[in-house]
Amino acid sequence: MRRTARTLDQALTGRVLERSELRWPSAVGADLTGRTVVATRSYGKHLLTRVDDGRTLHTHLRMEGSWKIARTGSPGARGRGPYIRAVLGNGVWTALGDRLGMLDVVPTDQEGTLIGHLGPDILDEAFPTTGLDEALSRIAARGSVPVAEVLLDQTALAGIGTIWTAEPLFLRRVWPWTPAEKVPDLPGLLMTTRGLMVRSVESTSGPTVTGEVGRGQGSYVHSRMGRPCRRCGTPIERGVARKPPMERPIFYCPRCQAPR
Ligand SMILES: [Zn+2]
Repeated sequence: MRRTARTLDQALTGRVLERSELRWPSAVGADLTGRTVVATRSYGKHLLTRVDDGRTLHTHLRMEGSWKIARTGSPGARGRGPYIRAVLGNGVWTALGDRLGMLDVVPTDQEGTLIGHLGPDILDEAFPTTGLDEALSRIAARGSVPVAEVLLDQTALAGIGTIWTAEPLFLRRVWPWTPAEKVPDLPGLLMTTRGLMVRSVESTSGPTVTGEVGRGQGSYVHSRMGRPCRRCGTPIERGVARKPPMERPIFYCPRCQAPR
């Protein structure tokens, strides 16, 4: 999400919106045309695009969503697809929100109502100094919840999806269903997770961004079911964290990450 925010920032910030189409029932009346974009920030998986009249466009990609950038006037900027839910264009770039999971326009000073329930953002610069302790205390309050579910719980700490749940658990040889309180060196696990995510954000940039990165290419375990573990050769397995309808796939090596 940090990468998506950066891409939107590069395309929109400091420029006047000449086109604003919000194809969302609760936002139909909201028109951002003529406003200058001040910034786009991410918090966890939420994206906050602020304009200069004190409003914020809040979007969330959920599983399938993405923001794509096209040059204004090019065929890709038409925004005619049935799943394009938002179009924001200036004289140079047009941003297209495809298959968005949430969209609202709120007063900027009320962004807290959208994100106030979230735990500290793992990608925030302050995470190592203040966010980590806050996250650990929120996790401790959850008792014996499986560590994979704690990592996915945006109200414990915000920003981690299924990839960045699976990968650090593999690196640290933790069975995903270990109760969080029994994980050896939980702070170390969170900092490993953050390190992987920071590296991923910094290693790639480009005009097209999607909600989830990776898709099994170059990953240790994520999306590699049945393929040999990169460490021991055992076929990677796919389990499930959380209960329906909130369940998410978790990939792991049954040997390297055997329950202790
Ligand atoms: Zn293995």
